[in-house]
Amino acid sequence: MPKVGVTKATKSFTITMSHLAWLDEYFIKKNKKMSAVINELINDKRKQVEKQEPTEYWCMSCSDNTIRTMENSKPVCVKCNTVDDALLRAMTQYQL
Ligand SMILES: [Zn+2]
Repeated sequence: MPKVGVTKATKSFTITMSHLAWLDEYFIKKNKKMSAVINELINDKRKQVEKQEPTEYWCMSCSDNTIRTMENSKPVCVKCNTVDDALLRAMTQYQL
């Protein structure tokens, strides 16, 4: 029987109260230890992220959708090496 309602972490990190409350409920429902639930959630997310294709953006000079790579903190088209100003502006504005 897993111990429910007990949360322990040797490395500390901050988590919002609403997430913590949701987690508490979720792992009690699942009848699993919180660590098992968190590992499961991270694993799922990890698989999801690793499956994703790199995002393509429209390149003005290629007139095509191409992948960006970061050079000197600027997004650069992998095909023609042009800095993507629109994406750079969006990244600065939204701090992506
Ligand atoms: Zn290009």
